[in-house]
Amino acid sequence: MAHRVTFIPGDGTGPEISEAVRRVLEGTGIQFEWDWQSAGADVYEEEGTPLPDRVLDSVRERGLAIKGPVTTPVGSGFRSINVALRKELDLYACLRPCKSYEGVRTRFPETDIVVVRENHEDLYAGVEYELGDQSTADLRAFIEESEGTALREDIGVSIKPISVYGTKRIVREAFEYAKAYGRSKVTVVHKANIMKFTDGLFLATAREVAEQEYPDVEFEDRIVDNLCNQLVSRPEEYDVIVLPNLYGDIVSDLGAGLIGGLGVAPGANIGDDYAVFEAVHGSAPKYKGQNKVNPMALMLSGVMLLRHIDEREAADRLEQAIADVIREGESVTYDMKPTRDDPTAVGTSDVADAVIARMNGAAAGHP
Ligand code: NAD
Repeated sequence: MAHRVTFIPGDGTGPEISEAVRRVLEGTGIQFEWDWQSAGADVYEEEGTPLPDRVLDSVRERGLAIKGPVTTPVGSGFRSINVALRKELDLYACLRPCKSYEGVRTRFPETDIVVVRENHEDLYAGVEYELGDQSTADLRAFIEESEGTALREDIGVSIKPISVYGTKRIVREAFEYAKAYGRSKVTVVHKANIMKFTDGLFLATAREVAEQEYPDVEFEDRIVDNLCNQLVSRPEEYDVIVLPNLYGDIVSDLGAGLIGGLGVAPGANIGDDYAVFEAVHGSAPKYKGQNKVNPMALMLSGVMLLRHIDEREAADRLEQAIADVIREGESVTYDMKPTRDDPTAVGTSDVADAVIARMNGAAAGHP
């Protein structure tokens, strides 16, 4: 039976990347029934919202989506649809595997980590007090009265809520991922030495979940600054890393840097009921329509989708074909060549051709 999946092609370079990804996913031989749903800047012009209900309804009905990047215009009317999707569908976990493939230019060829980032809480909760507002003055007065700290008058404030509920479910997600994919260790990351009531709570709750629910999986903790230092010296010592929202955002970009850049950095946003697979990178609008950018990050997000729906053999085959194309270094886009103006760089659709040929060749016994 065909897998029913919502496909959001996105805007900018999203549609051309999405087309390449559709072709390689179908090239695995797995049957898909796509529901194509446009969203983003162009839709905003036509429908008055960048994320119409039809898109959410489609994902709610199918439970699964794959999504090209969507532009968030700076200073214009609408908020990021990426954030809206995560909130509306309660996609509380952001998974970002960071794996170095042979042939990618990186100083860290041993890297194979998975960053599990909490998506809703922390300084991203959107609870903010603006400089000059009465509510900010009231908050200052409350803080001075209740715990004696006199904050400066000329402040803006962002609130950092971390809950036991939110922490338990992200930590469980990290352990469940480790178990499902045969990974041996989970590292919880925090700054509990400074923020005792938020990061301290995150750490204590993670320890409790680890001890009570997952005694068979190795567990450790790291302070976030120390983790960053260690990731750029010996990333091979890390496996699954679980973090609150802000550290997760920063460390997952660091991870993308470790493995050779945005062109090969996949991701997924996961909740209890729905999952949306998307690359880490944005819509690279300056290259729109040029058949130029690298579709591999979204292809690798497609590999994650295949594993998520338990099509593991197809996932392995597609990942191997992508890895082969990277290692051979010929049919790759400009960002994976030794110099960015390398005339032998191929286009987005050519990468899809090469990956499909590789899958077919491998199947026919031509390595
Ligand atoms: P970007 O990721 O689009 O581009 C950053 C740099 O990386 C650019 O130099 C770009 O050319 C290069 N790049 C990106 N993807 C590439 C690819 N697949 N192959 C080769 N090179 C690639 O980031 P940006 O310029 O900061 O953002 C552009 C727009 O995308 C913004 O509106 C932003 O809000 C949006 N965005 C969307 C998502 C998403 O949909 N999940 C994520 C990040 C940014």
